[in-house]
Amino acid sequence: MHRNTIVSSPAHLPASSYSLVEQVNGRGVFSFCMCPGGIIATASTQQNALVVNGWSPSKRNNRFANSGIVVAVNETDFAGTHSLSGLYFQHKIEQKAFAAGGGKFVAPAMRMTDFVHNTLSTSLPLCSYIPGIKSALLCEVLPDFVYKSLQQAFVLFGKKMKGYYTEDAVVVAIESRTSSPVRIPRNADSLCHTQIANLFPCAEGAGYAGGIVSAAMDGINVALKLR
Ligand SMILES: Cc1cc2nc3c(=O)[nH]c(=O)nc-3n(C[C@H](O)[C@H](O)[C@H](O)COP(=O)(O)OP(=O)(O)OC[C@H]3O[C@@H](n4cnc5c(N)ncnc54)[C@H](O)[C@@H]3O)c2cc1C
Repeated sequence: MHRNTIVSSPAHLPASSYSLVEQVNGRGVFSFCMCPGGIIATASTQQNALVVNGWSPSKRNNRFANSGIVVAVNETDFAGTHSLSGLYFQHKIEQKAFAAGGGKFVAPAMRMTDFVHNTLSTSLPLCSYIPGIKSALLCEVLPDFVYKSLQQAFVLFGKKMKGYYTEDAVVVAIESRTSSPVRIPRNADSLCHTQIANLFPCAEGAGYAGGIVSAAMDGINVALKLR
């Protein structure tokens, strides 16, 4: 999910970021890649499937702030024993998000307070997402456990950070690619594939990282094994 708000910062104050985490019914919910002055952008890789992501220019001085809000997903959350079950689970939600937006990569969205009360937003605040946003019930896009975890987490985040839980924030679906839903097996010591000699599965796509720093660290570890 992505949360977007309009911010105004006086010139003498730096861009302000935040990092929030909560446990909701034993499941982690946390902010990811929070971008002050950021922009929500399309990160889709397939037709008729919507994925959003966020970034900020180096000055971080746009009028919006955005952050991915991640709900931890476990293998037991999706049915099936196929090695690509996680990918199918992800894809199904991305297709639902695309359909709920009405096409052309318009993203379904709700005001944060409406999200918590599960009410269709009658209007939406301005948003940095260029293809546009459309009011939709996100309980029809997200798996029940994701939706309910976010509902509770938003209220808890609001207690930690004044002004976080507000009708001026908009929740945009869906950032579904924070980490890979598959992992290519590798030997824990040599980091080489368990069956294919001289193949070194590495970083995010191979299932060993999520984000810039962990991907870079995994790359360094694999490079050191190649010496
Ligand atoms: C818009 C956006 C914003 C993001 N913001 C953040 C952030 O703020 N903080 C954060 O931690 N993470 C962020 N991420 C995630 C971050 O970019 C990734 O976690 C990270 O780049 C993963 O690194 P990687 O080396 O595993 O994969 P990549 O950086 O994707 O590198 C894989 C490389 O393999 C190449 N490749 C693919 N297929 C082939 C092939 N068949 N042959 C040869 N080469 C191939 C690709 O061209 C690419 O260069 C963001 C991602 C996006 C899209």
